[in-house]
Amino acid sequence: MIDLKAEWDATIRREGENAYPNECCGVLLGTLLEDDSRRVENILPIDNKREEAEQYHRFEIQPEDYMRAEKEARSQGLDVLGFYHSHPDHPARPSGFDQDHALPFYSYIIVAVEKGKSASLTSWELTTDRTQFLEEEIKSWR
Ligand SMILES: [Zn+2]
Repeated sequence: MIDLKAEWDATIRREGENAYPNECCGVLLGTLLEDDSRRVENILPIDNKREEAEQYHRFEIQPEDYMRAEKEARSQGLDVLGFYHSHPDHPARPSGFDQDHALPFYSYIIVAVEKGKSASLTSWELTTDRTQFLEEEIKSWR
């Protein structure tokens, strides 16, 4: 379960709409709770480093951006919980590319952006054997 306050839900939607027709991406910072659920406490937008022509269906986070996110998390007393990105004119489900580039443990939030307007927002977790993405429940505050 991932706890996503309305504020962060709105931030991810706004990022997705601003990046449209390209994909936005960023890092979820927060706290791991004792029951294994996580709470998002901050959002760190990252520049999509994919070549321009690919950005409509791909995103890429460079190692140096990831390192910066890790440092930022530590300085705020938080952990990197996962990542978010948008799917312009595509359902909010992980693509094969997403699955190939994902790691277990992290939460992957996807927001669908249809014709420039944010639609469904989902969260996914890769199984430890990396064979499938399972949808993760979002505790929302909307
Ligand atoms: Zn994707």
